[in-house]
Amino acid sequence: MNSPFPMATNRTFTMIKPDAVQENHIGGILGMMEAGGFRVVELQKIALTAERAGEFYAVHKERPFYQDLVKYMSSGPIVAAVLEKDNAVADFRTLIGATNPAQAAEGTIRKKYAKSIEANAVHGSDSDENAQIEADFFFGK
Ligand code: UDP
Repeated sequence: MNSPFPMATNRTFTMIKPDAVQENHIGGILGMMEAGGFRVVELQKIALTAERAGEFYAVHKERPFYQDLVKYMSSGPIVAAVLEKDNAVADFRTLIGATNPAQAAEGTIRKKYAKSIEANAVHGSDSDENAQIEADFFFGK
């Protein structure tokens, strides 16, 4: 007999960023994720120090926006989560929309909630490998 809960094949990692948490959009954003077919398998609200935020975004440390990004990401609590769905990484990037909300498609999380290219409401991993690294950063192995 088939299980009513089929094994998920894939995971991604997300954060709800400080501006969206501050403006009480945790529920709305998690709701869009669930409505998009993602299952929440880990969830944590936490404040990042500037040091931890800098570590998370270390791949961007040579980019001009890095210092501001670190300051922003440590400006208030975030919500970190691991999500499960088939084809999770790619499907989640589609659901959140373009980095710059001015270019985000209708119906995406960033179109609805992002305020700027920096304060863009949510993070989504860009590869299976990074999803694993980022999930471990918050939730351990
Ligand atoms: N970011 C920014 N200015 C830029 C590009 C990116 O402040 O010109 C911030 C933004 O919050 C973005 C994060 O840096 O989400 C990481 O950038 P990336 O290019 O990896 O975009 P993402 O994968 O988050 O869409």
